[in-house]
Amino acid sequence: MEILRNKEELLRWRAECVKYNNIEFTNIAESKLSAESTSMKYNASIGYIPTMGALHGGHLSLVKRSKKENDFTILSIFVNPTQFGINEDFDKYPRLLEKDLDLCRIDGVDAVFVPSVDDMYSKDEETILVPPSGLSNVFEGAIRSSHFSGVLRVVLKFFNLIRPQNAYFGQKDAQQLLIIKKMVSDLFLNLNIVGCPIVRDCNGLAMSSRNVYLDEVAYNRALSIPRAVNATKEAFTSISDARLLEAIAMEELTGLEVDYCSIVDYNLNSIDKVLAGNAILLIAARVCGVRLIDNLWF
Ligand code: AMP
Repeated sequence: MEILRNKEELLRWRAECVKYNNIEFTNIAESKLSAESTSMKYNASIGYIPTMGALHGGHLSLVKRSKKENDFTILSIFVNPTQFGINEDFDKYPRLLEKDLDLCRIDGVDAVFVPSVDDMYSKDEETILVPPSGLSNVFEGAIRSSHFSGVLRVVLKFFNLIRPQNAYFGQKDAQQLLIIKKMVSDLFLNLNIVGCPIVRDCNGLAMSSRNVYLDEVAYNRALSIPRAVNATKEAFTSISDARLLEAIAMEELTGLEVDYCSIVDYNLNSIDKVLAGNAILLIAARVCGVRLIDNLWF
């Protein structure tokens, strides 16, 4: 596994992947012919997983999927300052690089990109990206005003450096996934965004790097969140009224400080009737001061 500590190392790695696989030096038709005659690959693909580190089973599920679908898998670890507000946990966000690298090695990641902040951002005022307000000023964006702008900025930089064919994101961060898909579509970016299911621990809590902030009491209280998700999922087999389903979820969340518990469509507009394939239950709640998010894609 290669550890790429700056842009130059990343670009060298990428060029090597391309060379090895005989693409970009010849056209695809020639590559195909050459591949057929020499049994070399001609359409090598790079799968990319952006992360902020403190890796867990959720991240590793994205690695697994990428490895299945691509010739090369690269994961970045970068705690992105521009997506944190001034009073958020940027400084105390868990940083566990050596452990993360071990997990990546075990899981067969080909390369890990760990740039510095100076590598990713210039000192001058930079071009910024503003996501559509309808998607970004609500839910997570309502309390974290420039969060999604910071996410898009760094994700676009990574896409442009790595130029993957496929990039893997968790459905856990539902709003982020929808906003990134919208950017890719609006800016005609040439890659696929693959949304992957939420990975949960043995008690059902959605895995998150921030779960390390939960002590035992908080952890047990937090389990109301997956209970709310499950109750809603079960109720959806016989109920499609969105308000009723929200009420069923809210009942399980009693005692938590709920920021939101809402059923919306993929444009994040409120809906009355839940239809499979275009509805999500979004939950954010604070448990002993730790803010957790979870969701259900109907
Ligand atoms: P983060 O390191 O928190 O920025 O997350 C990196 C990627 O992992 C994002 O696409 C997340 O949505 C995804 N992810 C985080 N937790 C989970 C989980 N429990 N299940 C699936 N994907 C996850």
